[in-house]
Amino acid sequence: MEIYLDNAATMRMSDTTVKAILPFLTEKYGNPSSLHAMGRIAYEYLFNFRRQLAECLGAYDDEIYFTSGGTESNNQALLTAASFGTSSGKTHIISQKTEHHAILNVLKRLEKQGFEIELLDTDSEGNITAEQVNNAIRKDTALVTIMTANNEIGTIMPIEEIGKVCREKGVLFHTDAVQAVGHIPINVKKMGCDMLSLSAHKFGGMKSVGALYVRRGILPSVLIEGGGQERGRRSGTENLVGIASMVYALAESTAKMDKYTPKLISMRDRFIKGLLKIPDTKINGSLNKRLPGNVSVCFGGIMGESLSIMLSGMGIYVSAGSACASGSLSPSHVLTAIGVPEELAYGALRISLSEDNILNDKEIEYLIFTIRNCVEKLRKLQG
Ligand code: PLP
Repeated sequence: MEIYLDNAATMRMSDTTVKAILPFLTEKYGNPSSLHAMGRIAYEYLFNFRRQLAECLGAYDDEIYFTSGGTESNNQALLTAASFGTSSGKTHIISQKTEHHAILNVLKRLEKQGFEIELLDTDSEGNITAEQVNNAIRKDTALVTIMTANNEIGTIMPIEEIGKVCREKGVLFHTDAVQAVGHIPINVKKMGCDMLSLSAHKFGGMKSVGALYVRRGILPSVLIEGGGQERGRRSGTENLVGIASMVYALAESTAKMDKYTPKLISMRDRFIKGLLKIPDTKINGSLNKRLPGNVSVCFGGIMGESLSIMLSGMGIYVSAGSACASGSLSPSHVLTAIGVPEELAYGALRISLSEDNILNDKEIEYLIFTIRNCVEKLRKLQG
């Protein structure tokens, strides 16, 4: 048995999406900027993909900018706000401690440039409240950036309430929705955000493709100069096949969401219940405000890395915390921020489920049994 349970790191592309994008490699491969018929066809597809993506998000076409993924979208959003801040004398930015490094490291850079960065504390489930944001906003606040859902522990933030506070106070609001888009309903107008980042490979599109939603009236900063694509805001020949994959995958996951969400939640909760029966095990994040496919636990007395390598040898692919952060052996900043003691944080395991791996009860029981055996073996070896 080989089973991929690391869908928050990246997801498989569905057969339907693969089939739908192939013609963009073999027949419709023109450059959208070319004036000949092949170019015009590519341009028309690009135009329609932008419209379809906008529709999925509840946005207008001209509010969508295609990028190379979540990291670039986050960079562009934060640097856009920073540029507005600089020109209006606002140098205070509010965020929170469990953001992805694609936010935190940009904030570090902005701090060096003179911005004052205020990272709000979360509660023990990784949540912050709109009230915290409200209390933190000042006259010189240039931006509030709060993720929609956490990539490690799956906690879903009260984005609509935060959006409302920001709108009332006239402060720019960005949300990193990389883990949320394609997994929970998203509507930028309801969320009240001015900017939203998304990434195709987190919902079955290609890697290194994404988008940034930017509300009408805000002009995104130019990070990449060149031929003037994306209305001059993001140059470079458009990755039409990647954009096609993003739009087809999002349309598919949006259409399937109602059917699969209850199944994922039920699987997720079975895993959580089963894993919590292993002695000295703690659940991370919220039990109810949680991404449908996220299971995050910590096992005392072991290293999550050793566990994930052991499971990998048996064909079970999971993550020791966050894929982007693994490779470094310091405990996850997310777990530290929610107050998990350091020794326990080293034993983190994240299982992230997708519609691709709907398991029956027997399979779930087998996986829990196997994880339990591995944890016990490692505890014996390490103790
Ligand atoms: N933001 C979050 C919350 C993520 O989980 C990730 C990737 O794991 C990113 C941003 C970066 O996205 P990308 O891999 O598309 O650069």
